[in-house]
Amino acid sequence: MDLKQYITIVEDWPKPGIRFKDITSLMDNGAAYKYATDQIVEYAKQVEADIIVGPEARGFIIGCPVAYALGLGFAPVRKEGKLPREVIRAEYGLEYGKDVLTMHNDAIKPGQRVLITDDLLATGGTIEATINLVEQLGGIVVGCAFLIELTYLDGRDKLEGYEVRTLLQY
Ligand code: IMP
Repeated sequence: MDLKQYITIVEDWPKPGIRFKDITSLMDNGAAYKYATDQIVEYAKQVEADIIVGPEARGFIIGCPVAYALGLGFAPVRKEGKLPREVIRAEYGLEYGKDVLTMHNDAIKPGQRVLITDDLLATGGTIEATINLVEQLGGIVVGCAFLIELTYLDGRDKLEGYEVRTLLQY
């Protein structure tokens, strides 16, 4: 299945000059969403993941059905102030300033094999911070799976030494 036909390119959103890749037109097509999920399920089996981790909010859309299909757990990564119990933190750079991602400090057990999921790999900052969180807890990042990779932003350079799988490239 050619998944690209289900991605909608939105010109000049959220800012002039950005060509936003909208995945909602893939998600609302049952066959396309299932096909994409199945590819990542196969990858999760290959890397022998024990648990899936994804950053809010679109990392949940990709990761939760994979966790469900394999009977694995899913641990959410959220912006600061959203998780109710004790958290660990990782800062990451934005175009202007910084942001913080957090995880519950008991979300991953030391030695667990973690597959990280998100919708899109751009500069890699979000996933770099997510890897940092998993590793603070003693998890082993066995793979990073994305629906889309923006190859011209070189996000893979930040993920050197990690297994990366992307289903669509622009
Ligand atoms: P990065 O941290 O620069 O790799 O940016 C990746 C994050 O930004 C992901 O969590 C995406 O959800 C979001 N993102 C950036 N560009 C797009 C886009 O064109 N479509 C959907 N999400 C995007």
